[in-house]
Amino acid sequence: MAWFKREIKGIITTTEEKKETPDGIWNKCPQCKKPLHYTEQVENQYVCHYCGYHLRIGSKEYFSVLFDNNEFTELFPDLTSGDPLHFTDTKKYTDRITETQFKTGLKDALRVGVGKINEQDLVIACMDFNFIGGSMGSVVGEKIARAIDHSIEHKIPFLMISKSGGARMMEAAFSLMQMAKTSAKLALLGQAKIPYISLLTDPTTGGVTASYAMLGDINIAEPGSLIGFAGPRVIKETIKKDLPKGFQTAEFVQEHGFLDFIVDRREMKEELSAFLKMMKN
Ligand SMILES: [Zn+2]
Repeated sequence: MAWFKREIKGIITTTEEKKETPDGIWNKCPQCKKPLHYTEQVENQYVCHYCGYHLRIGSKEYFSVLFDNNEFTELFPDLTSGDPLHFTDTKKYTDRITETQFKTGLKDALRVGVGKINEQDLVIACMDFNFIGGSMGSVVGEKIARAIDHSIEHKIPFLMISKSGGARMMEAAFSLMQMAKTSAKLALLGQAKIPYISLLTDPTTGGVTASYAMLGDINIAEPGSLIGFAGPRVIKETIKKDLPKGFQTAEFVQEHGFLDFIVDRREMKEELSAFLKMMKN
């Protein structure tokens, strides 16, 4: 006699009653390939608890990691991009913007929030890589400029979290102008003696590295982040030499004097508030 007998033949659960695992509950660590459960990721500040890999996250996650109780006021949330050049590549720039907005729920590649971290006021501007590669267009530049104005007006320190492939090619020179604009605004912030901390995350490249990301009173990065101006392939072809091992990682960049500290994301909030306290006194 069989130890198990199916009494009713066939699958009788209707499609509506079937239980499905929601997407994204499990995620594979890109470095060690071990499965990571979503709630574990959140608890561990989106760092792999096996190998310490820092998962790429966006402004929503950074705000939740840094702001006390995830409480903050978003500034200038409705700025969106124009299309000054009537640019078209594989699709029209305006269509690309609308589609990306729909897909990501974001208005552009940067969000600004003001709130408290460990009870100290802070303005945070944070880039979103999944909005056209975190590219720096006029909206990104304008939001940074306005965030700095807010910092100066209210005497609140400014934190910039960079994550970008560089300038937004669809806006050409208008995009490049943001480098000068944000740098000039940061100079005003410096004159007003208000601290600026720049946090470089994976990846920070192109015009972003060449402007605001490297202008912090303190420049810090997350471990293992790619930080550079041009990509390694372009450099290799230009200088016709093999590049050293670990080239353009945060650790390499720090060793060569471009970064002050590398901070693990799990200690980021404590470290940032220590810096803020130090600069206040
Ligand atoms: Zn891992």
